[in-house]
Amino acid sequence: MSENETPETFLDSVSHMVDRAMHFLELPEGAMDAIKACDSVIQVSFPIRFRDRIEVFPGWRAVHSSHRLPVKGGLRFSPTMDQGHAEALAALMTYKCAIVDIPFGGSKGGLRIDPRKYDEWEMERITRRFAHELIQRDYISPAQNVPAPDVGTSQREMAWIMETYRERHPEDVNHSAAVTGKPVDLGGMRGRLEATGRGVQYALQAFFREGNAAREAGLEGGLGDQRIIVQGFGNVGYHAAHFLQNDDHAKIVGVIKSDGGVYCEDGIDVDALNDYVRRSGTMEGFAGVEFERNGNRIMERECDILIPAALEGAIHRENAPNIQARLIAEAANGPVTFEADQILQDRGITILPDVFVNAGGVVVSYFEWVRNLAHMRFGRLERRYDQSQGQHLVTAIEMSTDHKLPDWIRESIVRGAEEIDLVRSGLDDTMREAFSEMYETREVESNGAVLDYRTAAYLIALRKIVRARSDLSLI
Ligand code: NAD
Repeated sequence: MSENETPETFLDSVSHMVDRAMHFLELPEGAMDAIKACDSVIQVSFPIRFRDRIEVFPGWRAVHSSHRLPVKGGLRFSPTMDQGHAEALAALMTYKCAIVDIPFGGSKGGLRIDPRKYDEWEMERITRRFAHELIQRDYISPAQNVPAPDVGTSQREMAWIMETYRERHPEDVNHSAAVTGKPVDLGGMRGRLEATGRGVQYALQAFFREGNAAREAGLEGGLGDQRIIVQGFGNVGYHAAHFLQNDDHAKIVGVIKSDGGVYCEDGIDVDALNDYVRRSGTMEGFAGVEFERNGNRIMERECDILIPAALEGAIHRENAPNIQARLIAEAANGPVTFEADQILQDRGITILPDVFVNAGGVVVSYFEWVRNLAHMRFGRLERRYDQSQGQHLVTAIEMSTDHKLPDWIRESIVRGAEEIDLVRSGLDDTMREAFSEMYETREVESNGAVLDYRTAAYLIALRKIVRARSDLSLI
């Protein structure tokens, strides 16, 4: 980059990607600006008194589009958080929800803070105060705006936020639906913690199930034959690597965190690595792998699939020419900049976009929100009934064939679905449907030329948003 050039911001990058898809739509003048604009953004600043000092924390919550309510999106606690990040991430949420048919608008927010510098007691005070600021301005509520975890937040913060909401609104019988990604004992959903990583796995399974997709990307064999590098070893990166290794038997050859990365051609045991990181706080010293302190160099090593699952802008114009993967599955939000996207496309590298790949989190958040409003777990009414119907079926088959079914078949027919089975089935179905729609759209829409997956995904989202907004006379 020359000295006078301004670096492309995250918001610019998202905006250019949307423009590329809008090109294929015929819209009334000004409609595009209306869809891209952020409906509202709030900035709050609040002081917290510690024993020896007072600190002021700035925080944001952006609502990109409230054509559907509530709006939905995570809360990020990070030293780099700012309004631009909130707006860019909120916009991605709007498009993502449309692509996977979740009836929410998009929102996102966060605090500028390094959570590692504070103990649990301090974090609770800061989080509750931030929640209070947002709740009193209606930026958190089950009907209007529902946060979830993101970078730097987890079930713990969601529990504090829910409790703060309940204290302010004891009359609201739906208070538990004010946040998703809560602990299961507080109304959270089994399967939400790992949902985004699970969704990455289902996205890749859908890609490999469609026979031509892998071949078009220059990949041979099935998902189990692929060598994968994962950048980011937090909630999303770890779970994606874990499921791809344990269920699909893919080989994880590289793992990168903020303080370094490891590589091993023969594959890395990600669960053992995760245990090691939990014990020692670093990947350095983990046996049988090569450690590199500048971990991001490992993204440029040989592999078939690269899964960026850390932060935005990880693949930019400087390193895009060096990426060796044939397929990039964007588990993070915005990990490939617009410029890098064009370089990678020119090099024939296929990209599965964030607005599809990491949608698992919001999909299962939707299930959690619906469950909280229903005040009943999924499957409670029908499980025993399904079991007895299964038992009748087994008896009928055994009587008519005069053969006893093997135990495993009998058990799979007789067993009624648990809530976690239903969550996985709903997530898998959603990811398959979204992939098929994207795959078809990219073939049909461009007069002979095949669209890239990202443009196809945005095209699908924009069509749905345009329809909803014009029905509401919002464009
Ligand atoms: P996390 O905080 O649990 O993990 C982040 C990981 O990225 C950590 O391992 C950290 O070491 C690593 N990292 C940070 N900076 C890095 C750098 N410069 N180089 C290499 N590694 C770096 O966060 P998460 O919840 O796993 O989220 C990761 C991404 O996925 C974010 O973009 C987030 O917006 C997106 N996402 C998360 C969810 C969710 O449910 N948590 C849902 C959708 C999308």
